[in-house]
Amino acid sequence: MERDFSTDSISYLLLDANSGALLASHWENYDNSIPLGSLVKPFTALAYAGAHDFRYPVYECSGQASGCWQARPHGTLDIVSAISVSCNSYFRSLAENVTAEQLLPVTSAFGLESPSTNSTGPSLIGLGEQWKISPLRMAHAYLELYRRRDQPGVRQLLAGMLQSEQSGTGAAIGRTLKGSGAFVKTGTAPCTHAARATADGFVMVLAPAQPPEILLLIRVHGAAGAKAAETAARMLNRMEE
Ligand SMILES: [Zn+2]
Repeated sequence: MERDFSTDSISYLLLDANSGALLASHWENYDNSIPLGSLVKPFTALAYAGAHDFRYPVYECSGQASGCWQARPHGTLDIVSAISVSCNSYFRSLAENVTAEQLLPVTSAFGLESPSTNSTGPSLIGLGEQWKISPLRMAHAYLELYRRRDQPGVRQLLAGMLQSEQSGTGAAIGRTLKGSGAFVKTGTAPCTHAARATADGFVMVLAPAQPPEILLLIRVHGAAGAKAAETAARMLNRMEE
């Protein structure tokens, strides 16, 4: 993997899904906090759930007109589909009912850096670069999310990550894994490389689905999250071989 994927444009962390041990890495300063885009969405969703009897809302996405990254409307979404397609409209609406303070118990339970107390709306769903988190901490937080799969509010988030691999922003991975399944969350965030691109794409993968053995977090310089999923798919394919 080091030989094939150690280019300057790809960063990755590979963890043992059971022990959390770091098995391999190619990521300079993975302890440093950077914006990780939509990778924060499940945790903001959990903060919402905690304040709303663990019931998630249904919202309508009108595409670009309602502030989504996708020009075309996603239509009516529940939390599972919203995670799967990483709908910004859905999460913009959800985040209007979440405060940075409500996120504190969640970030503390999952070992994540908290957003600053004056953060609101867009920055709570990973838009912009206000909320910075270390990639390694984020990887551990997703392992923790899986460990808590039977807790209220978590099941729907994991179902959304499974759906992402099948038909959402992580579909490139589903096409490669051919049935073994994976939990996938993609993200796009402002680039923090010295040579600036418009954005960096992120993909969190726990594979296979039942039960996960590895966690792969990758960052692709100058790509969107869904595009970065293609790179993740190639890496997973190589690991399978
Ligand atoms: Zn949308």
